[in-house]
Amino acid sequence: MKKLHVRTPSHECMVDITAQVQSAVSEAGITEGICHLFVLHTTAALAINENADPTVRTDILNALAKVVPWQDDYDHAEGNSAAHIKASLFGQDHSVIVEGGKILLGTWQGIFLAEFDGPRTRQVLLKVVS
Ligand code: ZN
Repeated sequence: MKKLHVRTPSHECMVDITAQVQSAVSEAGITEGICHLFVLHTTAALAINENADPTVRTDILNALAKVVPWQDDYDHAEGNSAAHIKASLFGQDHSVIVEGGKILLGTWQGIFLAEFDGPRTRQVLLKVVS
């Protein structure tokens, strides 16, 4: 098992971790299998989406902000309920297929750490099983 450390630069963002994941898979030395990813946080999540046009990421975050506003009638005293809700909507885990030592993604796909209450350093567990 490996642990990725991902620095998120702003309050809300989607950081492309595809290269980090691929490096960790290569280091694991397993050429055929499944790469499981799991974020160890309650206000960050994982997403697989377009990595070509960065405006897709901002559109996703802007649309999400309309659905889950930062200020609302929340009970959670920490004041970051929106981040918890968004993280639950995205989910904490993803699995990708590994073949020939490479993670298999669509042409336009990338793997993202979705930050909803940054900036922080986030941790992603990664395990490749054959
Ligand atoms: Zn909280």
